Amino acid sequence: MPGTHGPSVRNSPVSSLGPRREWTRRLASRFRFEWRHRARKDPYRLNHDARTTTTPALRIIPREQHVISRKNISKAALRVLYRLNEAGYQAYLVGGAVRDLLLGGHPKDFDVATNATPDEVKKLFRNSRLIGRRFRLAHVVYGPEIIEVATFRGTGEEEGEGDRHIVDGRIVRDNVWGTIEEDAIRRDFRVNALYYDISDFSVRDYVGGMQDVEDRVLHLIGDPATRYREDPVRMLRAVRLAAKLGFRIDAAASAPFAELGPLLADAAPARLFDESLKMFLAGNGLKSFHLLERSGLLKFMFPATARALKRGDEALRALIEQGLANTDARVAEGKSVTPAFLFAVLLWGEVRDLAHTWTTKGMESAAAWDRAAAQVVGEQCQRVAIPRRFTLTMEEIWSLQPRFEQVQRKRVFRLMAHPRFRAAFDFLLLRAAESPAIRELGQWWAHAQQLPHETLAAALTGSAPQGPAGEVAAVPSPRKRRRRKPAGKSGNKSGSKSDPA
Ligand code: ATP
Ligand code: MG
Repeated sequence: MPGTHGPSVRNSPVSSLGPRREWTRRLASRFRFEWRHRARKDPYRLNHDARTTTTPALRIIPREQHVISRKNISKAALRVLYRLNEAGYQAYLVGGAVRDLLLGGHPKDFDVATNATPDEVKKLFRNSRLIGRRFRLAHVVYGPEIIEVATFRGTGEEEGEGDRHIVDGRIVRDNVWGTIEEDAIRRDFRVNALYYDISDFSVRDYVGGMQDVEDRVLHLIGDPATRYREDPVRMLRAVRLAAKLGFRIDAAASAPFAELGPLLADAAPARLFDESLKMFLAGNGLKSFHLLERSGLLKFMFPATARALKRGDEALRALIEQGLANTDARVAEGKSVTPAFLFAVLLWGEVRDLAHTWTTKGMESAAAWDRAAAQVVGEQCQRVAIPRRFTLTMEEIWSLQPRFEQVQRKRVFRLMAHPRFRAAFDFLLLRAAESPAIRELGQWWAHAQQLPHETLAAALTGSAPQGPAGEVAAVPSPRKRRRRKPAGKSGNKSGSKSDPA
C-alpha cells in the first residue's frame, strides 16, 4: 500500500528539535510531502525494511497484460504446477524463470513455489526426492529435467518458529514455512520475487519486481547491508544478474560492496565455485568479469587475479578478456566449455610471475612451475573450491607452456601427443599479447600441426633449436604443403578431441 510503510514523521529527526516549534512544523510538513511524493513514484520503496513489513503491497498482473505464455514454460514445470494445483495446493512458477520469461528469454531452469510442505510434495510425486539441509526442498525429476519445488519460506521472526539458524547475522539454515507474502520478501532482488500463478495465469508482484523489469534495474528487497550480511553471496548475484540481464544495480544495492565485500571470505568455497561457473561459463563471462572488477569484488573472489591486474599487467588483461570472450562465443554456439581452462586463464599472471621469480633465483624450471602452480591453486581454493580434477588440468596447461619453447624434433612430437596439448596450445595462442616472440611461437605451432607427420619430422631433423623466432623458418610454409596430398597422420593425436574453453 503506497505510503503506509514509511518511517513516520514522529520517528524522524524532526521530533528531537525541541522547542523550535514553527520551524519543526514546517520541516515536518516538507518531510511528509517528500515521503508521500517518493512513495508515489516508488510505492515499494518503503518495503525496504522488509523484515518488519507484515503485508507487502500486492499487484496482480492479469494474463492479458504480460507476455508469459505456457508455450515457453517447460512441460515438466507445467505438470508439476498443475498437479500441485489439482491437489488443492497453491503453485507458482517463481524466481529467475518468471523474470527471464518476462524479458523474452528462455529460462534454463524452472523453480516452483508452493504451500505444500516438502513431505507433501514427496507424497504427490513419486518421481521426487528431498534434498538440502540449509534449504530443504523437493526435486521432481522428469528424465534429464529437474524441477525444484520449494515450500514458501517464512520470515520466522518470532522465537521458536521453525528451523532457522542465524549466526553473526548470517542465515545458516532456513526452513521456516510461511505465506507467499513472506516468501516474496525473503528473496534477494525484486525482479526475482515475481510469481506466475498457474490457476489463472496472472503474475503476482509483492515488491515491485514488475516495475524493475521495465526499468531494467536490480533493487535488493529490504535493507541492503542486512541482506548482504545474511548472505554475502547476494553481492555476487547482483553482479552476475546485472551482467546477464544488462540491468543496472541500484545505487543503494551496490553502496555496501566496499564495506561488506570482505564477508565473502567466509562464504562457503563450494558455493563460490558454483557462483563463479554461473558468472563465467554461462555466456556473459566478459561482462561479469568487468562488472566484478569495477564493483571491487574481484579481489575477494580471485585475489591473485586482482593483484596481477593491479600491477598494470595489460598483457594479462588482454589474455583474460580474450579468454572470456572466446568462452562466451563458444557458449553462444552451443559448444562445450571447461572450467579448468578458464581458471587457468584467470590465475595465469600470478603463476607465471612466481615461476619466473624462482627460476631466476636458480630453481630448476619444472620445479619452479610446480611450486608456483601449487601455491596459487592453494590460495585460490581457500576462496573458490575448484575441484581437483580441474586444478590438475590447470596445472598441466601451465606447466606445458615452457615446453612450447623447446622445438627439437623429439620434444615437439612428445608435446603434440600430450593429452592436454590442445588446451595448452589454445592457451599459448591467448598469450600472444605477452610478446612478439610468443605470438610467433603460437604461429609456429599452428603451422606445425597442419603439416603431415613426415614433413614436420623432416623439417625438424637437424634443426638447431635457437628459440621460438629462429625455429619458425625451419618449418616449410603452409603454402608449400598445400600442393602436396596430406599424408594422413598429423602427429596431433589429441587434437580434435580435447575441448578447451
Ligand atoms: P539464474 O538465471 O542464474 O537461474 P536465478 O535468479 O533463477 O538466476 P537461482 O539461483 O536459480 O537464480 O535462484 C532462484 C531464485 O531463488 C531467485 O530468483 C531468488 O528468488 C531466490 N534466491 C536465490 N538465491 C538467493 C539468495 N541468496 N537470497 C535470497 N533469495 C535467493
Ligand atoms: Mg534459476
